Amino acid sequence: MSSDLHMHTSCSDGLLTPEELVQAAKEAGLNFIAITDHDTVDGLCQLYETGLYPNAGIKIIPGIEFSAHHDTSEIHILGYNVDIYNRELVERLNDVVEARWMRFSTMVEKLQNLGYDISETDVLEIADGSTSISRSHIAQVMVRKGYCASVKDTFEQLLEKGKPAYVSHYRLEAEEIIDLIKNSGGTPVLAHPKLIHNDALVEELLKNGIEGIEAIYPKHDEEDTKRYLELAEKYHLLVTGGSDFHGIPGRWPRQIGEFVVEDCYAEELYREPEL
Ligand SMILES: [Zn+2]
Ligand SMILES: [Zn+2]
Repeated sequence: MSSDLHMHTSCSDGLLTPEELVQAAKEAGLNFIAITDHDTVDGLCQLYETGLYPNAGIKIIPGIEFSAHHDTSEIHILGYNVDIYNRELVERLNDVVEARWMRFSTMVEKLQNLGYDISETDVLEIADGSTSISRSHIAQVMVRKGYCASVKDTFEQLLEKGKPAYVSHYRLEAEEIIDLIKNSGGTPVLAHPKLIHNDALVEELLKNGIEGIEAIYPKHDEEDTKRYLELAEKYHLLVTGGSDFHGIPGRWPRQIGEFVVEDCYAEELYREPEL
């Protein structure tokens, strides 16, 4: 049996609903899964409300993935076993959602001021009910309206950092995220360290309250994994791994079960639900 400790649902930027993800993971024969949506535990709340968590016939580890504020690097921090109804967590996540809406409105306003005929309604239509409106949704409208050739072009001309319609993210500091995860009963784990592209910064983070490292990851080659396993040992950290499954065409792994970890990593994290 095998497990996957990093998976996204349609509650953030994944394709499958939480129910579909659970079903697909069962069909793939996985033993443990962790749902780790960006900035939300809504998927887990939904599964709890429909009774699938914890009784789906597959062991589910509640999780979340945060993006930390940093000037030059993308730092993602996973939180495992957070209490999904913890008040502080819920409040801070609401702040993040509110800031995302503000960012979206401001970007649309900037585009309007640049002379483009685009409205919030256009973007909401494309986003089709997602609460996680992103720049890709805005870019899709720009392409559909014939202003730009592709989503990539829209980013390069208008939406990237330094471009005329760019608005910066509101992001929590790494220290805040680590405290928030711990205060809500969870274990903070540094996600896909290779994607930080700065191992000195990785070590800095590992020394400051992180309790685990995602050493096993699709974009880590054998050398990378070895290096991160050594860091885990050096700093006495848990080792985790997962596919970062999104279910989106063109992004590997496309299928659940194509990239898995041994159950021993999940067993270290798994707690019998007390809900
Ligand atoms: Zn990530
Ligand atoms: Zn992820």
